[in-house]
Amino acid sequence: MTEPETDLTKTYDAVIIGSGAAGGMAAHVLTSHGLQVLLLEAGKKLPIEQELRSMEWPYDNAHRGSLPPESHSLTFNEYTIRKPPYGAGLENAQHLRSYVGNSDYLKNIVVDERENPYTGTNYAWVRARCLGGKTNIWGRLALRLSDYDFKAKSRDGFGEDWPISYSDIEPYYDKVDLYLGIMGVKENLPHLPDSIFQRPQKLNCAEVTLKQSLQKMGRVLTQYRAGVTSEGLKHNKYRSRCYGRGACERKGGCDIHAAFDSPTGLIYPAMDSANLSLRTNAVVREVTIDPQTGKASGVRFIDSQTMKDYTVRAKIVVLAASTLESARLLLLSKSRLHPNGLANSSGHVGHNFCEHIMGPGVTGRAKDLVGKPATLDDGRPGGFYLARFRNLSEKHPKFIRGYGFEGGSGCRMFPSGADVHGFGASFKEEVRKNQGAYISMGAFGEVLARYENFVDLDPVVKDKWGIPALRFHYNFGDNGHRMAEDMKETAQEMFEAAGFEMVHVRNRVLTEGWSIHELGTARMGNDPKTSVLNQFQQSHDVKNLFVVDGSAFVNASCQNPTWTIMALCWRSCDFLADEFRKGNL
Ligand SMILES: Cc1cc2nc3c(=O)[nH]c(=O)nc-3n(C[C@H](O)[C@H](O)[C@H](O)COP(=O)(O)OP(=O)(O)OC[C@H]3O[C@@H](n4cnc5c(N)ncnc54)[C@H](O)[C@@H]3O)c2cc1C
Ligand code: SF4
Repeated sequence: MTEPETDLTKTYDAVIIGSGAAGGMAAHVLTSHGLQVLLLEAGKKLPIEQELRSMEWPYDNAHRGSLPPESHSLTFNEYTIRKPPYGAGLENAQHLRSYVGNSDYLKNIVVDERENPYTGTNYAWVRARCLGGKTNIWGRLALRLSDYDFKAKSRDGFGEDWPISYSDIEPYYDKVDLYLGIMGVKENLPHLPDSIFQRPQKLNCAEVTLKQSLQKMGRVLTQYRAGVTSEGLKHNKYRSRCYGRGACERKGGCDIHAAFDSPTGLIYPAMDSANLSLRTNAVVREVTIDPQTGKASGVRFIDSQTMKDYTVRAKIVVLAASTLESARLLLLSKSRLHPNGLANSSGHVGHNFCEHIMGPGVTGRAKDLVGKPATLDDGRPGGFYLARFRNLSEKHPKFIRGYGFEGGSGCRMFPSGADVHGFGASFKEEVRKNQGAYISMGAFGEVLARYENFVDLDPVVKDKWGIPALRFHYNFGDNGHRMAEDMKETAQEMFEAAGFEMVHVRNRVLTEGWSIHELGTARMGNDPKTSVLNQFQQSHDVKNLFVVDGSAFVNASCQNPTWTIMALCWRSCDFLADEFRKGNL
């Protein structure tokens, strides 16, 4: 990979802010169209293989993989009882991490909460400020949305329909599948469209038992659709195929890059085109505006290490800093011509914020597997996905929209969910006997996109670089809580029907934000009065400004968003390049 020098004196065709799934995809598509692109990333370029150390054994790590004692990772109770910014009462911790940062392998990947505060209602905001963003540690579940999502309002009357249909995005899902690789099995479900799959992983015994039992209920359990290449990608020399080492569960990332991450999947290949310049440690604080035309003229950023301020010019500005950070940047970019913030003549920037509610779930024990020889289940990048079954053909009386379950079973290096007590040899024997018999699953449900759920800028609190922090005004709402009740009941009912002995039923709804699937702060739409972007993620107000991350989502669906973020971004960047060539931007 060649890394051209960043030249701040020149005017780039496009500047992209953020290097995660969205920014990486924008870099890939725009450079392949021949545009000269500058990619600005707030975080460091980490030696990611040394951070993740996928093959390290627990006993070779000073803390068995946990955070060093001087650091603290926020717990469920701390998010719930304390008020953000989360720091008060935790002064003894030198570094404060989100709940995801509870690992020696992730400590440099997720942000220090004190340097990056936020305020308002409780929210577990997980951020990864480094090259590749959250894709370095994502859970890899790569699902498509369908017209049950894009046209949800037409089905149940709530919210807005997207300005696109599945047929508009389907060719771009295909491109993402082929360029990045995805494992799975075709199921022909209209509400969970199939991808172009590489070789799937296998379900294990308890998972097959559950699948067969669910078939009788008309529900579909399928192999985890992992954004992981099982057969390799001939066009990408930076990635390897999956060797099934199981480290992605334990470490949260893959150091041979079989699991998709933005640097090896998108950015390094784009750099080889020599059309991409990259500057890390560049914290963008504002999109600059040409006072004559009102169009974006570039961005201002701070070097996170030297604290020096810089400006760079570009003909097009592409925001891809993640749903909440992109909204923050739009709100920060106030000017005489855009007094409410950039692209915000509708007043919808920061609003219609949505995500997934999670928490309810179950753990069971397949009694016929107790005492059976250990099997190699650890070496899989995921277990199973149980597709949405609510509000498809029938109408649930208590809530609209739906939820799916992620789950898994089998032997692990660290048996999870075990309900075994005691100590010494007899305890170890019990763990060994039972470990392959446990099976668990937890739900992810759609939180409705409501105008009154929003973020704005805190008038007082600023981050380490003096930039106003985000303030949350957000809760799951009644529909979400009624759905969570149903998740708990159906989870239990399905495990009982499969003949599993119940070990735990989890009733607790986790703190807002826990799903790490934040979406919808600059939604797309046909009407500039009620939406921020058009169907190509182009600002209605500022035609050379695009926002290509999850901000554009009109609703959250219940399917995980990253594959859709990238398919939408690819489509929008094809449009952008075409308009640029025609001189329309
Ligand atoms: C533990 C975990 C598990 C997950 N599991 C799944 C899953 O199974 N399936 C799924 O679909 N999704 C999953 N996700 C979510 C997924 O990672 C995100 O949807 C995806 O990364 C979003 O891409 P993005 O580019 O919008 O944001 P990010 O990946 O967060 O990238 C944004 C980048 O912008 C940079 N940035 C922010 N502000 C600025 C600024 N002011 N200036 C310059 N740069 C800036 C950030 O540093 C970051 O690198 C998971 C996430 C986590 C953390
Ligand atoms: S199981 Fe596959 S994707 Fe996961 S860390 Fe191992 S090689 Fe990477």
